[in-house]
Amino acid sequence: MKPELNEYLFTPEINTRNEVYELISWWKKDRVQNAKIMVIGAGALGNEVLKNLALLNIGHILVVDYDTIEFSNLSRSLLYREEDAKNNASKASTAAARVKDLNPEVKVMSINADIITDLGLGVYRRMDAIIGCLDNRLARLAINRACHKIDKPWVDGAIENLAGQAVVYVPGNSCYECELSEREKQIIKRAVSCKVVANRSIVRGRIPTTPISASIIGAIQAQEALKLIHGYDETTEETYFASFKNKIFRYDGKVLDYGHYDLEPIKPDCMSHEFYDRVIEASELSSETTVAELLDWITIRFGEKSPEVILNQHFIYELTPDDSKIVHKVQLPQSKVATYIEQNNLRGENGCEIYQNGLDYITKDFPFKELTLNQIGFPLLDILKIETENGIYFAELTGDEHFINFK
Ligand SMILES: [Zn+2]
Repeated sequence: MKPELNEYLFTPEINTRNEVYELISWWKKDRVQNAKIMVIGAGALGNEVLKNLALLNIGHILVVDYDTIEFSNLSRSLLYREEDAKNNASKASTAAARVKDLNPEVKVMSINADIITDLGLGVYRRMDAIIGCLDNRLARLAINRACHKIDKPWVDGAIENLAGQAVVYVPGNSCYECELSEREKQIIKRAVSCKVVANRSIVRGRIPTTPISASIIGAIQAQEALKLIHGYDETTEETYFASFKNKIFRYDGKVLDYGHYDLEPIKPDCMSHEFYDRVIEASELSSETTVAELLDWITIRFGEKSPEVILNQHFIYELTPDDSKIVHKVQLPQSKVATYIEQNNLRGENGCEIYQNGLDYITKDFPFKELTLNQIGFPLLDILKIETENGIYFAELTGDEHFINFK
């Protein structure tokens, strides 16, 4: 039996960092120490979530972000210093290092990547909880789709001014995409169009936030992740728990309004609900595998000579500026096209349209078989969707597994 409140007064003095948590009756030390939590986005909200996870002694913390630290971040980010902004330091690696400073007992890892295109599904699959700390819908949509594919709940947070909200989406029961209004879907559609993707960092918008809403919502997110790793919710028998699973928590500090509400039921025709059943851990495959090697592997493994492997982004092989009609031969995943166009000034002075020719599948006729899976747009530890005559298979690039390395 764990002590009741009045017995705490007679417990021996606590001298180690984390002993105090063991006095909490429902605290499961092993679960917390073994837990792997991924925090996507290391801005104002991410900083607060990371601070809480570090102090809670979460065993393994992965930080993902692709941005660098700017002076404007310093007013709401307790993990960053003026020096970091001067050096344009990476948010992900700096935040991970400061988490380690706060609590040397936790193991950390950082990935400097755009989560929309560069974070493999196998990374999500290895996590016990996923926390989104983002400022844009496109990135939330990417997390939502990834979490549905591997059937993992995720904790979303959003802040603005003195207000904010937190949600725990559970695949099969609630879904970020199902909650979107038609107007929000239109905004996302515009952001996806290649022209705008070039300026994704610009169109993200600058929402004014405060460290107050960040710490309130970030604390709620860390609390819900703690319940997820313990497996606690309304169904917990041993002790009473409630969670924000399938609910939205809203807080507005300006008018002191707060509460939680049930999310809408999921919609049948939503694009997010795809589930990757029975993932094959293919240690023979990695992001360095060539397309030719992959096709051979599929033939040996499934006896299939004409498979279709779905690309997770278009693979572009021709760019044609409207004004010159000169065809530029390229070999680029869609996410790299905008930079290429900019660097080679293909739009010219008048900002002309650029037509793109690309592929969406690898088939036996794929013309660039010498390229690696990474070169055609698959990130480390991603999961391939392979369609054959006998059914659909999901193969993880498990050969990349070594890159998951918490220190
Ligand atoms: Zn949905």
